[in-house]
Amino acid sequence: MPTVETLILGAGLAGLSTKWFLHSESAILDKGDRPGGLAITYEESGYRFDITGHWLHMRDDGVKESFGSLLDMNSVIRKSQIFTHERLIPYPFQSNLQLLPEDVKIRCVMDAVEAHVRREKGEPEPTSFGDFVLYHFGEGIAHEFMFPYNKKLWGVEPNEISHDWTQRFVPVPNLRQIVEGAFTDKHLKDGYNATFSYPPQGGIERFSAAIASKLDGIHLNTEVVRIHPTERWVETASGERWNYNFLVNTFPLKAFVQLLVNAPTSVRTAGDKLRSTSLDYLDLGLKGEALRGLHWVYLPQKHLPAYRIGCFSNACPGMAPEGCSSLYVELSNAVKWSLDDALNQTLDALSAIGPDNVSREDVEVCRRRHVDFAYVIYDHAYKKARSTVFEYLSGQKISSIGRYGKWVYASMEDALIDGRETAARLMEEFHGE
Ligand SMILES: Cc1cc2nc3c(=O)[nH]c(=O)nc-3n(C[C@H](O)[C@H](O)[C@H](O)COP(=O)(O)OP(=O)(O)OC[C@H]3O[C@@H](n4cnc5c(N)ncnc54)[C@H](O)[C@@H]3O)c2cc1C
Repeated sequence: MPTVETLILGAGLAGLSTKWFLHSESAILDKGDRPGGLAITYEESGYRFDITGHWLHMRDDGVKESFGSLLDMNSVIRKSQIFTHERLIPYPFQSNLQLLPEDVKIRCVMDAVEAHVRREKGEPEPTSFGDFVLYHFGEGIAHEFMFPYNKKLWGVEPNEISHDWTQRFVPVPNLRQIVEGAFTDKHLKDGYNATFSYPPQGGIERFSAAIASKLDGIHLNTEVVRIHPTERWVETASGERWNYNFLVNTFPLKAFVQLLVNAPTSVRTAGDKLRSTSLDYLDLGLKGEALRGLHWVYLPQKHLPAYRIGCFSNACPGMAPEGCSSLYVELSNAVKWSLDDALNQTLDALSAIGPDNVSREDVEVCRRRHVDFAYVIYDHAYKKARSTVFEYLSGQKISSIGRYGKWVYASMEDALIDGRETAARLMEEFHGE
């Protein structure tokens, strides 16, 4: 029965980063066959695919200092657009109305003015995401982009979720900026991810692998099936028990709660209330060019299966054989699509976007994949349910971190920061360092 000072559950970036910064005995357990969690890359017939877009935004100086020099990374200026009204318009929609058809543009601007007037008159800031959109942008922008796009992404009505996740991910231009964006190209670079870092070869997994290569004690193909928080052991699918003093979890919180032996009913019930989207997506390897050099394109149209299509090889040519394109197609959560329909409609959308027409004969790879936990749903039960679980875990001295351990909408960089902060806290709290 192995015993370890700190046991880290999960070898995604949060788990790897915790181990990186923890200067004491620790081990990582992960059911996967390689480290990286969601930050890994599949290879098929010469094409490479991350688990949809995994573009690394390094803003934190500490992250840059610790991980920035591990691997030479390309700095890439984001090229993302929205395909709507049979044309491409720059992202984000709300500050780039310029290229929309005149009547649509005028309606969006007029409705944004109306929303501004209501705010000036003291309309209180709402709590639901749907009302937040109407409050800041007005009906036009809401119905042209925000509502249909987010309905496809989240699979729920905009009023079923709060706006707690929007702060970093939804740029909120003021009226002046909306109007400027309707008549000039001043706001083309808005948004949380105007540039990103990406390995020049091999996909995002090169980054995860570079971190993991400096660490020992990573136990792969090791599924955790039970956790006893008071007796402080973890049991794996092979029946092996690991004793620990301190536990750091990065598994999805909802699934983690189900593994806890003897958790109070209130905690289990709270865990059951945590909701997330799952994601069906396609890896697509195509002969020829796709997406006009863009890195990704948003598709708000209800009738199209994808809400976003991205092209790895437009950001990093080594991701596809020469003259070919490797793409990801993120399928809507609002409707379940058959593979055939999803593929045919996606090829039509790609042909409409250009530069080339794309047919079934151009498809060299088409693989449907699934992510169980994709986006945490910030519904109206979220805050209470999450805090019930966290109160219990802090009483058991368990740290739960990372996008899914913390149960938040967060990035790879956030996972790295969580690991660093958790390691520092552990050393301070438990080792007196
Ligand atoms: C569709 C999508 C697109 C994204 N795009 C971006 C992007 O462009 N840029 C960006 O910065 N971030 C992006 N992210 C977010 C990014 O993937 C995460 O923030 C980050 O990878 C989370 O790392 P983590 O270590 O917290 O979790 P994970 O990577 O999920 O790691 C958790 C680990 O736990 C393991 N595990 C789970 N259960 C068990 C068990 N019972 N036993 C053993 N092991 C288990 C898993 O195998 C996994 O390795 C995206 C996420 C998604 C879903």
